[in-house]
Amino acid sequence: MGSAKKKANIIKAPEGMYDILPSEYMMWDRMRKVVRDFADFYNFFRIETSLIEREELMTRSFAVDDEMRDRSFVIQKGGERFVVRRDPALSVIRAYVEHGLNSANQAFKVFYEGQIFDKNGFSDAPEFREAHCAGFEVIDGESDPVYDAQIILTLCRILEELKVTGITIGLNTLCCRHCRMGYRKQINEYIKGKKNDLCAQCEKHLTGKIEKILICENEKDKLVRDSYPASVDYLCTYCRSGFKIVFEYLEELGLQYALSPRLSSDCGYTTGTLFEIYGADLPYPLASGGRHDYLVESVGGKNTPAVGGLIYLDRVARWLKAKGVTIAPHRAKPKTFLIHIGALARKKALGLIEQLRESNISVWESLGRDALDVQLKLAAKMESPLALIFGQKEAFEDSIIVRDMKSGMQETVPLKKIIEAIKKRL
Ligand SMILES: [Zn+2]
Ligand SMILES: [Zn+2]
Repeated sequence: MGSAKKKANIIKAPEGMYDILPSEYMMWDRMRKVVRDFADFYNFFRIETSLIEREELMTRSFAVDDEMRDRSFVIQKGGERFVVRRDPALSVIRAYVEHGLNSANQAFKVFYEGQIFDKNGFSDAPEFREAHCAGFEVIDGESDPVYDAQIILTLCRILEELKVTGITIGLNTLCCRHCRMGYRKQINEYIKGKKNDLCAQCEKHLTGKIEKILICENEKDKLVRDSYPASVDYLCTYCRSGFKIVFEYLEELGLQYALSPRLSSDCGYTTGTLFEIYGADLPYPLASGGRHDYLVESVGGKNTPAVGGLIYLDRVARWLKAKGVTIAPHRAKPKTFLIHIGALARKKALGLIEQLRESNISVWESLGRDALDVQLKLAAKMESPLALIFGQKEAFEDSIIVRDMKSGMQETVPLKKIIEAIKKRL
C-alpha cells in the first residue's frame, strides 16, 4: 500500500521530455565521440550556444511565422520574450555575428551538440518534444560549393561510422534572391490553379506564405505537392553553376545521391543547396541541412554566406535499435579493484585512490559497502586483473595485499611501494 501510494506521487519529466539513463549512455557517448572525432579531422571547432534565445532571433531570420512560433517553448519575462532552442543554426549565426568571429583568411567552421525542442513533437517521433542533435556550420565570405559538399560528406561519414547502412542523399536547390521572384511567380500560379485540391490548412496559406503548402503533410494535397514546378528549372546562372559543382564534388567523393526536386525545408531561410540523408528503410532523414546565405545579414551581420547541417542523434539511436545494431563499446575493465575492511582502511583508501589516479591506474571500489563478500562478488564481476585488499591489519601497518585475480597469488606490499607493485603485475 505504502509503496503504491508513493509511486502515484512521484514527479515525472514533462510530457515529451526524456532522460538518457546510464544504461543507454555508453551508446550516446560513442555517438558523440564519433561526431567529435570527425569534427576534429575536418577542422570544425566546438561551439556551445545558449539554450535560450530572444524570440527576435527567430522572427528576424524569416524562419518563423505564427505556426512556427507556436511550436516553440516561450518564456516571457516582463516585456521580453525568449524561446527555447528549436534551430541551433540560428544560435550559431547569432553568436558569430555577436562576437565578431569573422576572419578574412579562413572560413569559420564550427560544430555543436545539444538538445532542440519542439512543442508539437518531431515528425519521426511525435511523442517526443525534445531531440538531441549534432551539427556543423561553415560561414565564409565566399559562397563556395566545396563547403556544401564537406558538410554532406562529414554527416555521411559519421553515419557510416555509426554503422548506418543504405545511406542515400536527397538533394535539391532553392533559389537565391535573384531567381526567387521568377520561381515564386510560377509556384503562385500553379498553386492558385489547384485551389480546390488543398487541405483546409493550406487554403489559409494561399494568402500568406505559399511555400508552406509545399511542406504540408496532409494526404489531401499530396498530388499538388508531387507535381509543383521544381526550383531547379528556374535557377539563375549563378545558382545553376553552384549546384552543378556540388553534384560534381559528391560524385568525386563517391557518395550516393539523387536529385529530389520536391525536397522542401520548413525553415524559410534556405537558399541554394538543400539536402536530407537517409538510412535504409527509413522515411525520415537521419540528417539534413542546407545553405542559408542571407542568415548572417538577417541577424545584423555583414552579408556572409553560410551552409550547415545536423544529425538527429536520437533518430540514429532509434534506427540502430530497430536494426539491432549495437555500437556501445564495453567500458574498459578497471585494472584494479580496491577492497577495504574497516573504518581505518576506508579512510586510507581515499588517499590511495588519489595515488592511483595520479599514476593513471584505473580503479573500481565499493567504498559505501563494508561487507567483504559483497565487495569480492563485485570484484569478480568487474573482472579486474588485480584486487587490492586493504584489511584492518594492513591499514594499521600501512601495507596492502595485491592479489592476482587469475592465479590467486597474493603478496603483501608496503603502501608506499604499491604503484610499483601494481605496474610490475599489469
Ligand atoms: Zn539564383
Ligand atoms: Zn495541406
